[in-house]
Amino acid sequence: MRVAVVGAGMAGLCAARSLADVGHEVVVHEAANEVGGRLCTRRVGDATFDSGAQFFTVRSDEFSGLVDGWLTAGVVFEWCRGFGSAPDGYPRYAGRAGMADIAVHLATDLDVRLGSRVDDPHALDADAVVVTAPGAAVEWHRTIALLAVLDRSPGLPAPGAIQAPAAPFSFVADNQAKGISAIPAVTLHAGHRLSDRHWDDEGAVDALLTLAVREGVLGDAAVVDARIDRWAHAGPVRPLAERCVVVDERVVLAGDWCGGPKVEGAALSGRAAARAVTTRGPAPPAPDLGTGLA
Ligand SMILES: Cc1cc2nc3c(=O)[nH]c(=O)nc-3n(C[C@H](O)[C@H](O)[C@H](O)COP(=O)(O)OP(=O)(O)OC[C@H]3O[C@@H](n4cnc5c(N)ncnc54)[C@H](O)[C@@H]3O)c2cc1C
Repeated sequence: MRVAVVGAGMAGLCAARSLADVGHEVVVHEAANEVGGRLCTRRVGDATFDSGAQFFTVRSDEFSGLVDGWLTAGVVFEWCRGFGSAPDGYPRYAGRAGMADIAVHLATDLDVRLGSRVDDPHALDADAVVVTAPGAAVEWHRTIALLAVLDRSPGLPAPGAIQAPAAPFSFVADNQAKGISAIPAVTLHAGHRLSDRHWDDEGAVDALLTLAVREGVLGDAAVVDARIDRWAHAGPVRPLAERCVVVDERVVLAGDWCGGPKVEGAALSGRAAARAVTTRGPAPPAPDLGTGLA
């Protein structure tokens, strides 16, 4: 079967891998010039930042099987078992060279066409199409990621990150302490309200840096360089219960907005979509992956 996959994020690449591994002819169309989507690793000089997803957790046996393979291949590592003074003990995994590296690994040997935006999946020359572009049918949280190169370590508590959903910056991570950056480089995720407030603000970099200094999350470090990424589709407010959506006999929709708002949900959705296009059966129900990010 000839299958076109739209989107080379976790969902699209998991769908493509599942299909290619059993002999289907797969072409992946990715609008951006790199794979990964929200598995995004940015380089600024010698600094490296995870800008979107910072880590992932594992709850299902199906995803655990995939992650075991990534661990064996050295693509991911167990970063920590939680944050703060009383970590919850559940493993958090991250890409050894950054989260985007997981996507690069998944894309190995796949026919991925970068810079290939698809506006009408029905126009693609394929027997079936899996669309993993963030669904327009659901409401999305927005997140601004502030990426700051520093002159020294910010001195964050082990493992070099703070998770504080109610604080102005809901997650702050020292990418050098995490092991992916050669020099001090901190990712700060503005919480949803702070992100909304500065979404259209041309002075957002300065405003967020000022706030970060006031909040004390940069320690004594001075900022050498800074920029922001705006994530318009950070996570679905209310993901659908279905793992994927069968539109018609050719087109299936998938992504983290189907079944779960996280890396694991995206992977399982992509795999469910691959099963749906080959079997045309109903998608399996989604396990409860929670409504917040991991
Ligand atoms: C700031 C932030 C923090 C996060 N933190 C975590 C975390 O700590 N843990 C966790 O588990 N998850 C986290 N997530 C969520 C996680 O990143 C996502 O759930 C997951 O990566 C979604 O994968 P996906 O394949 O469904 O979508 P995406 O990664 O968005 O992939 C969709 C792809 O489709 C492409 N595309 C879109 N439209 C088209 C088109 N018309 N034609 C061709 N290509 C197109 C896009 O360019 C993109 O590459 C975070 C996300 C963000 C933004």
